[in-house]
Amino acid sequence: SETRAINFGAGPSALPQSVLEEAARGLLNFAGTGIGIAEISHRSKEFAAFLAEVEELIREQLNVPSTHTILFTQGGGTAQFSAIVLNLLARHRLLHPDLKDEERIMDYVITGTWSKNAAQEAGRLGGAKINIAADARVTSSDGKSFDNIPPHDAYKFSQSPALIYYCENETVNGVQFSHDQQAPESFPFHLLPKDALLPLVADYSSSFMSRPIPRLADHAVIYAGAQKNVGPAGLTIIIVRKDCIVDVDAAAKLGAAPVPIGLAYKSFAEQKSMPNTPPVFSLYVSGLVLRRSKALGGVSYYEAVNQRKKDKVYAVLGDGEKLGLLKGYVKRGSGSWMNIVFEVLGEGTEARFLAGAEAKGMKSLKGHRSVGGIRVSLYNAITEEQTDQLVAYIRHFLAEET
Ligand code: PMP
Repeated sequence: SETRAINFGAGPSALPQSVLEEAARGLLNFAGTGIGIAEISHRSKEFAAFLAEVEELIREQLNVPSTHTILFTQGGGTAQFSAIVLNLLARHRLLHPDLKDEERIMDYVITGTWSKNAAQEAGRLGGAKINIAADARVTSSDGKSFDNIPPHDAYKFSQSPALIYYCENETVNGVQFSHDQQAPESFPFHLLPKDALLPLVADYSSSFMSRPIPRLADHAVIYAGAQKNVGPAGLTIIIVRKDCIVDVDAAAKLGAAPVPIGLAYKSFAEQKSMPNTPPVFSLYVSGLVLRRSKALGGVSYYEAVNQRKKDKVYAVLGDGEKLGLLKGYVKRGSGSWMNIVFEVLGEGTEARFLAGAEAKGMKSLKGHRSVGGIRVSLYNAITEEQTDQLVAYIRHFLAEET
């Protein structure tokens, strides 16, 4: 274990050492069965009990009300880009059978690469018109970058859309909605159409379980791939309001697109997330992570720690900016707690920065290929001490370069 690096990668990303050690034992012998977790039947009573516990751990720590069901699937965020469209268009069809395709609207808030990709997939699938409710490039510093969360007056929602989409944390670009409802960078819940059952969808892939989810009960669907804060890739966690678990075959009879059974929320809800084989190992490790998170104090514990971590990194970034050596990629106020993106200015300086970090065992700091620069991911498994080590390294680097 002394050879383990500090992994600041954006996902798949660091997992707690104690969980990995326990998971290694579970690979050999799960729950005293004498069978390893990757070998045991997902229909065994031991696995069924574990799955029920994972659901309860999420429900409890995020305060998920009984109006919402928690589903586990495969396919990642990318499969949900399609699943939300197909399931919510089926729902809209059942509610409004007589509308033409061009009269059905899907609202997308575009704040970065992932919400842009989600809107693109909605366009591919068709069946409705897309309204871009806000586009952060319009409110950016140069008219083309995803460097901000748009202010409230930049949004235009439709009256009765089939879905309203946003991505809470943009992993590539490092922008995130503020949870302070007074802040201009918060999600404008007050501007949404008045509807007790809003079709509001949020991608929480890279911030799930890192802090509480504001207005969770008002969402139709919240989804997250596990591979950032929660566990290994392969598991997708979906929190769905029950009115959005619809009979997709009945909707198809009314003209909606047929929904592949592996994407239909109803098949997962009716069969306790096991219409087919679930990602057993990923669920196992995620369950261990969630048990540990509960023992530490749940999402409010992580909220406090994550706030201190990001404050420390943004502070040293600010110092680097004053020295003219670093440059934050996003507008202050829009900055993510989870993925902090910045440039190291000057010829060859970024390469020196990365090599110096690597020499101290700090890895995966290179930014996404589409943005460049440095990206520091501070997911739950990155400790405050590890963050302190990074900050100390950056301070040392700034001193060396000046
Ligand atoms: N949404 C966000 C915010 C992401 O960060 C990612 C992946 N990094 C995705 C969606 C796509 O998820 P997946 O790779 O699980 O399909």
